Amino acid sequence: MTVVTPPLSGTPKTSTTDTDALLERLSMKWPKHVTELHVHLGGSVPLYRLWEIAIDRGIRGIGSGYEDFVNILKIQDGKVKDLDSYLEVYDKIELIQSGPSSVRESIIIAIHRAYRTGGMLKLGPGGEGGSPESLFAIRRFELRWNPLKRTGAVFLKGSHAGLYDMDRVIKSAVNAVEEVEIGFHGQIQVGHIFCFGRDLTFEANMALARKTRLWREKTNKIIGIDLAGQESINPLSSPRKLEEMRTIFEEAGPGLGRTVHVGETPHVDVDTFIKTIEVLKPTRVGHPIAAIRALWDKKDDRGIKLLKERKIVCELCVKSNLLTGAVKDLAEYGKVISTLDEYGVEYTFSTDAPSLQGTSLAQELVMLLASGAATPDQILRSLAVAERASFLPPHTVA
Ligand SMILES: [Zn+2]
Repeated sequence: MTVVTPPLSGTPKTSTTDTDALLERLSMKWPKHVTELHVHLGGSVPLYRLWEIAIDRGIRGIGSGYEDFVNILKIQDGKVKDLDSYLEVYDKIELIQSGPSSVRESIIIAIHRAYRTGGMLKLGPGGEGGSPESLFAIRRFELRWNPLKRTGAVFLKGSHAGLYDMDRVIKSAVNAVEEVEIGFHGQIQVGHIFCFGRDLTFEANMALARKTRLWREKTNKIIGIDLAGQESINPLSSPRKLEEMRTIFEEAGPGLGRTVHVGETPHVDVDTFIKTIEVLKPTRVGHPIAAIRALWDKKDDRGIKLLKERKIVCELCVKSNLLTGAVKDLAEYGKVISTLDEYGVEYTFSTDAPSLQGTSLAQELVMLLASGAATPDQILRSLAVAERASFLPPHTVA
């Protein structure tokens, strides 16, 4: 049926027959519809569609042709060594996606990508759907992104000025979700999570927080807030910086789900990890590897116990964590999963940037199964957790 060959060191290559045999042997009963919680808009438009948007908008600096463009943007093993280099291509993508019409188009494409190819085990080089059949369809979908970074924002002397109006950008994004939901006659449910940036100034993040509050009052399509970006730039280890982030989160207003990228790199130690959670009060966290490493390396279980006590759900993104080096290989990933189970901490699996990593949720889950890093029971449990931990209103998909 399919070939799973993730281009990762230490990843076993699985042939068509192997995958078929594996799935047959496991005889897993996959749910028909699943929920995905952790996907960035910048990494969610298939590259062949992003290329078309760039051509349509007359964007400069996109390489010497289509293949070159794909090569520049695809995040592959050997090209990326850490989170900072992983995030480099986002600047270019955010510019391509800037402005109300690009944002609208990108969101419509991103939702369709999830629905159509999220369950596929094979994709074309630019992210085209490649499987005749899917393991499942993603029908509840949380999409995270930073509206300020879609204004063509330019930062000068600590202040920012964008080409496009942030209200128009957000309005377009809200419309895009509503239009797709109408088109699908209630068979799909989507919400936006707005990401504050570790790389943005306090003033810029506050501007986004004020817009978040304003638009949250107008629509239920904005379901949560997040903190993303390079931990090296702002690990929040300074009490002043952490207080600033608390102010930003508070300004965004009540009634929003909270998730935070924290502990993906060694720039965040376990003390900072704990303080970040205590101050920003998330109910979910993005790849909290620092808490697990503190336990393994220093027998310090404070971070992981805090996750358990607060019933915080971990959003794990397998291929992304392997590419950035947050987790060494799939064998170590298996250890991450069993450690979380040992402490009774819940987790889900997501793709983070499926279009840039050339992956799908189905590929990631089968990769875990094929390598023995996760069991069918762990995978099915993670899908149930995603359903339950979603910031979307209670299940309303037809
Ligand atoms: Zn992420």
